[in-house]
Amino acid sequence: MHELSLCRSIIKSVEQYLEDQKDVDITSINIAIGVFSCVDESALKFNFMVLCKNTRFDSVKLQCEEVSALAECQDCKNQYQPDSLFSECRTCQSLNTKLIRGNELKITSIEVK
Ligand SMILES: [Zn+2]
Repeated sequence: MHELSLCRSIIKSVEQYLEDQKDVDITSINIAIGVFSCVDESALKFNFMVLCKNTRFDSVKLQCEEVSALAECQDCKNQYQPDSLFSECRTCQSLNTKLIRGNELKITSIEVK
C-alpha cells in the first residue's frame, strides 16, 4: 500500500504546516504527481478520504495535477520528454541522461477558507 503511506506523509506535512494555525480551515490540498512517480491518483484520493474521515481534514479535497517528464542529456545538454525512466537522448542517443522532472510527488499549495 504505497499510496497509503504517501497519504500519511502528505497529511503529516500539512499538519506540521498548520501547527501554529489551529483556527485555519483548509478546503483543499493541491499536489503535483510526476508521470513516472508510479502513484495511482484514484488510490491516493481514496486513501486520503479514508484517513481524513472524522478529522479536521474530513471535507478537504485532494487535488492532483499531473507533471510531465523532462530529461536532460548529460553529454549534449539536450532536453527532451522521455518515454520511460531510462530513455536515451533523442539527439545523440547517449544513455547518460538525467530526469529533471517527472518522478515527484509534492504539495504545491494549500487552499484555506
Ligand atoms: Zn545527447
